[in-house]
Amino acid sequence: MLIEQMVNIPNTFGMDVKTKLFVEYYSLDELRQVLREHKGEQILHIGQGSNLLFTRDFNGVILHSGMARARFLDDETVEAQNGLRLDDLIAQLTDMAYCGLEKLSFIPGEVGASAVQNVGAYGVEAKDVILRVNTIDVETLEERVFTNEECRFGYRDSIFKHELKGKYIVTSVVYKVKPGDASKTREEIIQTRMAKLPTVGETGSAGSFFMNPFIPEEQADELLKQYPDMPHFEVKSSNPQVFESSNLVKIPAAWLIEQCGWKGKTLGGAQVWPKQPLVIVNANNATPEDIIALAAQVSASVKEKFNIDIHPEVNYI
Ligand SMILES: Cc1cc2nc3c(=O)[nH]c(=O)nc-3n(C[C@H](O)[C@H](O)[C@H](O)COP(=O)(O)OP(=O)(O)OC[C@H]3O[C@@H](n4cnc5c(N)ncnc54)[C@H](O)[C@@H]3O)c2cc1C
Repeated sequence: MLIEQMVNIPNTFGMDVKTKLFVEYYSLDELRQVLREHKGEQILHIGQGSNLLFTRDFNGVILHSGMARARFLDDETVEAQNGLRLDDLIAQLTDMAYCGLEKLSFIPGEVGASAVQNVGAYGVEAKDVILRVNTIDVETLEERVFTNEECRFGYRDSIFKHELKGKYIVTSVVYKVKPGDASKTREEIIQTRMAKLPTVGETGSAGSFFMNPFIPEEQADELLKQYPDMPHFEVKSSNPQVFESSNLVKIPAAWLIEQCGWKGKTLGGAQVWPKQPLVIVNANNATPEDIIALAAQVSASVKEKFNIDIHPEVNYI
């Protein structure tokens, strides 16, 4: 177990924030031990910190997994430990001529968070390839397996972000795979992403800052009269986030933000990424306040121009 006091918290936004205690564990027994020893304290389990905006120092225990192995359970099932980088898993599977996860290539972050966040790209979401999620109950320290259905996956969403937020630690994820060559798709996706998105380690960001909004069909029809080129996608009623209404339309937040003239604009050290306006970057020693203020101004102008609320995908801590 690695234990450090008052150290910087790893995060891809490059925020300069410290935690009282940082603990990296290397087995489930070590995880149980640290949970037992720090019962009642504020605990946050992180992966790579690639979807987090730390707004201040953390007065508690930041947990990180050093468990990063994967194994085949059978020909079509792979179990990966929470601390393995998702892209390392996909690279290994591709090398071994297995496919299924390749559209998620190059998404930063670890296996544990892939289930919490239900990461997605190019029409595939983690939920499409996750069979089950193995966890440990933070209170009882007992293991619990969540089936795909029990995870209640939605758009960048799962039960671990709502009712069960902070209550379970994802320890491993079981994905379904199949034999097949995914190397070309993977390579194309990596090239596209590299051209469009900020590079982790070079430019601080947390990827898409906002989620794409869903609006009623009638509102979309009205907007289309004014903006005939507005990209829009009818949403299948099977999407749990919108299952109460089948008449919703998804509008790309990037388009809305661009229409409001934000592409490349800066506020303090924060900037709306010129190549993809859905992303806010730490362009020049941004403080959390710079990021928050820029995000607030962007969403306020989208609300004013289109009467659409856009909400952060990034978790504020
Ligand atoms: C350049 C860039 C591009 C990106 N592109 C995409 C994209 O295309 N699609 C997409 O979906 N996302 C994208 N993201 C966002 C990010 O990669 C994902 O949200 C990713 O899943 C975060 O993984 P992480 O390991 O860094 O988790 P963190 O950011 O550290 O944590 C995210 C959340 O998960 C929780 N968590 C982490 N690990 C565990 C665990 N083991 N058990 C319980 N809870 C846990 C944390 O407490 C937190 O609430 C991008 C980010 C960046 C920086």
